[in-house]
Order: sequence, then C-alpha cells, then structure tokens
Amino acid sequence: MSDTNKRALITGITGQDGGHLAALLHEKGYEVFGIIRGQHNPRRQITQQEFPYVNLIDADLTDQSSLVRAMQLAKPDEVYNLAAISHVGYSFKNPQLTADVTGKGVLNMLEAVRLTDKDRNVRFYQASTSEMFGGLDYNRPEKGYDENSHFHPRSPYGVAKLYGHWITKNYRESYDMYNVSGILFNHEGERRGVEFVTRKITHAVARIKLGLQDHIELGDLWPKRDWGYAGDYVEGMWRMLQQDKPDDYVLATGETHTIEEFLDLAFKEIGIEDWKPYVKQNPAFMRPAEVDILLGNPEKAEKVLGWERKVDFPGLVKLMVEHDLTIEETKI
Ligand code: NAP
Repeated sequence: MSDTNKRALITGITGQDGGHLAALLHEKGYEVFGIIRGQHNPRRQITQQEFPYVNLIDADLTDQSSLVRAMQLAKPDEVYNLAAISHVGYSFKNPQLTADVTGKGVLNMLEAVRLTDKDRNVRFYQASTSEMFGGLDYNRPEKGYDENSHFHPRSPYGVAKLYGHWITKNYRESYDMYNVSGILFNHEGERRGVEFVTRKITHAVARIKLGLQDHIELGDLWPKRDWGYAGDYVEGMWRMLQQDKPDDYVLATGETHTIEEFLDLAFKEIGIEDWKPYVKQNPAFMRPAEVDILLGNPEKAEKVLGWERKVDFPGLVKLMVEHDLTIEETKI
C-alpha cells in the first residue's frame, strides 16, 4: 500500500510529539486521526486550528470502550500510542494516575487493537522511554544504553512505562501483532510543554531578554541528558513501522549534556555569559529519586532504519530560544 492510502491513529495528538508526527504523516499523504480527551480540553481548538486535516476523536486512554470506538471510526493501518502522563516530577505527585494512564492505558489501547483487528493488519507503536534505564552506575554501558540494556526505572513514570514496554512485547509474542516499542531518549523543540526543563529555560531566557521576568527557578542542575530534536525522532517512529518485521529500537544522539550546559548555550543566545545571577535553585523542583546520567546508543536504528538526526545540541537550544523570543515579542 502506498503511503497516500494509509490511515494513522495517534493518541497524544495534543502533545509535543503528536503535533510533529501529525504534520509528518500528513506530508506523506496519510489520513490522520487523533484521540483527544476531556470535554473542556483547552487544546482542542488550538489543535483543530493548527492541524485542520486531523480528524479528532473523543477518547481517553483509561476508557477502553472509547478506544475500541476510536479504532472502529479511524480504521487505521498504523496506531501511534503517544498519550501518557509524561512528566517525571508530576508522576511522583500522581503515581496512581500515572500507572492507570501511562501503564495500563497501553494495555487498553493494545486490547482495542487486538479486538478490532482480527486480520492482524494494524501496526502499533508504543512510546517507550530512556527513563526505564534509570542511569545508575552499576548498569550504565560505556557507549550508552541500547536495546539489550538492563532496566532500573527511578520514578513512577519510568515504572509505568516499563509495564507499557513489556506488555507491547508480550502482545507481539502472544498474538502475532506487529508491535514496536521505540525507546526514545529526551527530545525537545519548539512544541515542548513549558513544564519540561528545557522549554522552561528557553521560555524564561526569552522573557528575561525582553524584560518580562528577572530570574528562573530550577531544581538540580547536574543531571545529564541525551537531548535530541523531536522532529527528527518522529521520523524514527514512522520508520520503525515500515520494516518487514516488528522490533524494538533506541533513538538517541549518543551525546550527554548537563542542564548547566543547556543554560550556558541558552543564555549565550541572548548575549549573557554568566547566567548564575538569573538562576535560583528551588528544592520544590528536586525529585525524591533522580536519574543522574542518560546516554543512548542509536547504532541499531541508524543501521537498520537508516535513521539520522539532523539537529545537534547547540542547534536545538538555538532553535528553541529563537522560537520563544518570537512568541514572547508578540505579547509585548
Ligand atoms: P506530552 O507533550 O506530554 O503529550 C502527552 C499527551 O498525552 C497529550 O496529548 C495528552 O493530552 C495526552 N494524554 C494524557 N493523558 C491522557 C489520557 N488519559 N487519555 C488520552 N490522552 C492523554 O508528551 P510528548 O513529549 O509528546 O511525548 C509523547 C510520548 O512519548 C509520551 O508517551 C512520552 O511519555 C513519551 N516519551 C517522550 C519523550 C520526550 O523526550 N518527549 C522521551 C521518551 C518518551 P492532553 O492534551 O489532554 O493533556
């Protein structure tokens, strides 16, 4: 089947990756369907305006009957399960909700696919995460975590995602479903929610430059992350579902940087070399357990999928600061 005849269903359409993926699939000629939850979701109108070609379907990952209905309406060839409680800090404050949505929600979506796709034609992508690895010294491979690395999640989010990862594999092995778990390291960009540290920084940096705020409050600055650009990562998701056989893949940059390094580059974009006077550390943003270092090894995805990233770390920070400056300027 050519891409022009394909139909895709995306959960998490209102999130960062949902937007990038909807645009990519639309460009490839897919008919795109997206699940939206909540009767007063403020992102409904924004999503409809930004992506007029997306068919929105009311459904919630915790309501399996709504997911069956979504499958019946969309009749998709590909399902991308991106919906989740996705913020690590928030997951410590709402651990049961995180288990219901980020963990059991995957089972609900898989069951909806299994029950409605008797011929096993549907291809399913699960948005797994590097947070499943945990970053502790004892299990950290020198070249970075890969598809065979040991898991040791350090948050309710990571634990729930690990369930999603294994139930995706289990349904592949048990029911002959085309299920893929994409283990993605952090990816950011202009669509990232402002509650996430990278966007929180670039948003604040733009506002500091424009005189709209005078400092930013952050948690620990030493954790290291493997940060890529979300636009590059959704291309990898799509490639995972175009292979002859389903398999699991890591997407990462193979580089790791501290939050301090992110601050260095972001403040340099507005001409500030010493950012310390502008940054206050607030224990409220520190977590009960932290992941020290995340570094991924993308060799398999590069070799098998021909996947490559186009935006490097300085390019990512620049793109985000420039975007936030443009947005904030219009508010003055
Ligand atoms: P995001 O911006 O936080 O988006 C999460 C999406 O999930 C939103 O559209 C949200 O909808 C939806 N959602 C939450 N609860 C729901 C429910 N009960 N039913 C239906 N939808 C629900 O996340 P993202 O950055 O795009 O990430 C996409 C996926 O990849 C997530 O599963 C995330 O955990 C995973 N991931 C992300 C990264 C990363 O660095 N970005 C790395 C690895 C894995 P509302 O608008 O209704 O809130």
